[in-house]
Amino acid sequence: MNYIMELDRIKSEIKKRKARRVLLQFPEGLMNSALKISKELEFETGAETFISVDPCWGGCDLAETEALKFNADLLIHFGHSPWPKKPKVPTLFIEARSEVDIRETVLRAVTLLKAKKVGITTTVQHIHKLDEVKNLLEEKGFEVSIGKPSGRAKYAGQVLGCDLSSVAKLNVDQFLFIGGGTFHPLGIALATSKSVIAADPYSGKAIDLKEMTKKILMQRYAQILRARTATRFGVVIGLKFGQINLELARKIKNKIESKGKEAYLIAAEEITPERFYGLEDIDVLVITACPRIVIEDSPQFRIPVITPRELDVLLEFESWKNASEDLFGYKL
Ligand code: SF4
Repeated sequence: MNYIMELDRIKSEIKKRKARRVLLQFPEGLMNSALKISKELEFETGAETFISVDPCWGGCDLAETEALKFNADLLIHFGHSPWPKKPKVPTLFIEARSEVDIRETVLRAVTLLKAKKVGITTTVQHIHKLDEVKNLLEEKGFEVSIGKPSGRAKYAGQVLGCDLSSVAKLNVDQFLFIGGGTFHPLGIALATSKSVIAADPYSGKAIDLKEMTKKILMQRYAQILRARTATRFGVVIGLKFGQINLELARKIKNKIESKGKEAYLIAAEEITPERFYGLEDIDVLVITACPRIVIEDSPQFRIPVITPRELDVLLEFESWKNASEDLFGYKL
């Protein structure tokens, strides 16, 4: 797979800033470019480079602390658009746009589109192809809409796993997502309760997310039911660069206590089942960090793991019907 890594821009930034120590951070899918990029940057700029191999899931996961420990002059974060929070270390976000052709996959996906008004959306990797998708669909007679960014996304039509605001309020009947895998299109379906077709230009496949969405909503409701008798709640605060949400955690703690239950604020960098082994008396975890931890990873936890919106259902502030049609609360 070929991505535009903007090496000329990186070299000129390193030289312009006179950076001597540079930390390179890649998501897993781009790690195979790390050695080549490190070698080329060292050779052409004379800077010393370090490759971070810790997991990197998004722009939220910026290796700011590592860069501070290294006393790095520059952090280069690949694969995500800039996060809307100023890092403590000078940082370059290299978006790594994909060069993969999307045309054939989009034409395949068109056969699954049943509505006339279609919203198109993608990740930053294919954002430069959105006009091409729009033209292809309009040639086929669809009315195409592209949502404006209003949260963590930088571009019109861009979605992140945790920022679906560009699609949530679009007046369309169906969505076409262009990009790899089902992580983002599943988020769109859960945020909008509308039909989503995913066109994956890497595999060439186009699929309807309907069955997967139904299965996940059943799992979510099962987690809420399992938590019905809970009396001790852990309210989990993420410590990653872009995941700290202290105010929300405090509000949630108060809400739980208003129902006569116990709540504890818990902080974690990596929110994985093993982190909670010692806290055996906690009955349920409410995650205020990445909302996708709940959707993707909750089956691995011993106890129910829920979102703030699902907590509202559990505490009877909200109905499951409303919450299930707007799982991340964009219509609130
Ligand atoms: S979905 Fe989660 S991991 Fe991805 S950018 Fe958002 S907070 Fe970070």
